[in-house]
Amino acid sequence: MALIVQKYGGTSVANPDRIRNLARRVARYKAMGHKIVVVVSAMSGETNRLIALAKEIMPEPDPRELDVMLSTGEQVTIGMTALALMELGIKAKSYNGSQVKILTDDAFTKARILSIDESNIKRDLDNGYVVVVAGFQGVDANGNITTLGRGGSDTTGVALAAALKADECQIYTDVDGVYTTDPRVVPEARRLDKITFEEMLELASQGSKVLQIRSVEFAGKYKVKLRVLSSFDEEGEGTLITFEEEKDMEQPVISGIAFNRDEAKITVLGVPDKPGIAYQILGPIAEANVDVDMIIQNTGADGTTDFTFTVHKNEMNKALNILRDKVQAHIGAREISGDDKIAKVSIVGVGMRSHVGIASKMFRILAEEGINIQMISTSEIKIAVVVDEKYLELAVRVLHKAFELDAE
Ligand code: ADP
Ligand code: ASP
Ligand code: MG
Repeated sequence: MALIVQKYGGTSVANPDRIRNLARRVARYKAMGHKIVVVVSAMSGETNRLIALAKEIMPEPDPRELDVMLSTGEQVTIGMTALALMELGIKAKSYNGSQVKILTDDAFTKARILSIDESNIKRDLDNGYVVVVAGFQGVDANGNITTLGRGGSDTTGVALAAALKADECQIYTDVDGVYTTDPRVVPEARRLDKITFEEMLELASQGSKVLQIRSVEFAGKYKVKLRVLSSFDEEGEGTLITFEEEKDMEQPVISGIAFNRDEAKITVLGVPDKPGIAYQILGPIAEANVDVDMIIQNTGADGTTDFTFTVHKNEMNKALNILRDKVQAHIGAREISGDDKIAKVSIVGVGMRSHVGIASKMFRILAEEGINIQMISTSEIKIAVVVDEKYLELAVRVLHKAFELDAE
């Protein structure tokens, strides 16, 4: 008998039939004697619908109130899921984030989980219930409803698995595993049987939406056995996230390609090239809780330099306002501009550690297509470039082929 957390994404709970289907799967696992915790997302499209509704009232919605609205999506599906299980004669009980007590910080719309009170869930499991928990939401120390950022139900699933010391966390979605890249963009993409935790972490952090980055971080920290599977296919083994590198197996140099359309580039032109400038630019941005991803500073010429960084598109205006109101005059910058027509493409693979020339191959492939590279960043197992948004799909396709990731 095992304790399994099963997380179902939006498309897997998109309508009553799919919820009934989910309930049948849970029933099968229950019949095998397992204890099951189900984490569900909102029905597909619902979170987007709620965001659009909020924006109709306030174009840049107040984050606390937005979270109050967004949390309703998952609250509907936990009730429906519990009902579907009851209809199969299974004892089931639903909990929203604050009922469990998934305690988070107060960073509305992107809160982090601080702790989970697993006592009620454990008691219910011991009493034979399937426990259904709302993904994507929690409660802060003052009782405010919070949400965990887009895709956050993955993180609820893995965090619960960690808190409950579950034997496995299964992420059910609309693809049958983790692919070499998004199969919607490259139909030749291949499913991976396994992927190392490090590679999954990079892919997720570079924009592969199949798992939210924080869910992978949790899995790594608490060594949660994590598997991505299709909710539409009963047979598949999906993709297992592994923690050991198999030294004897030949590793492909590149395991996957991620991309991200959600970033915007901010450029600060003509700043004095002297100590403290990066801090004066990025300090106020960090204080406003805006996450910065890539950063580049040019080598100074004539005592001035240019400074470029990327933030989430949703936060570009906030960051620009901070810079124009608080920073520009203070540091004497000539110009501050934003560009949200960019995209980031990243190639990821642990095999990069033992191979040279990967970056130059990537740059050559892009150059052959006439794709200009605007920014570059690297880590030991990743090379990421920012390109014009309109070249994104082309870049991913040609790189996928050039690094021999295409299915035979
Ligand atoms: P869910 O609603 O189940 O959480 P998501 O839409 O968040 O589903 O994530 C699944 C989607 O992630 C897939 O439909 C696919 O388009 C996308 N995706 C992006 N990169 C990958 C990848 N490397 N492997 C598999 N799917 C990917
Ligand atoms: N419903 C949320 C979203 O659409 C959380 C999730 O699906 O993981 O982002
Ligand atoms: Mg998701």
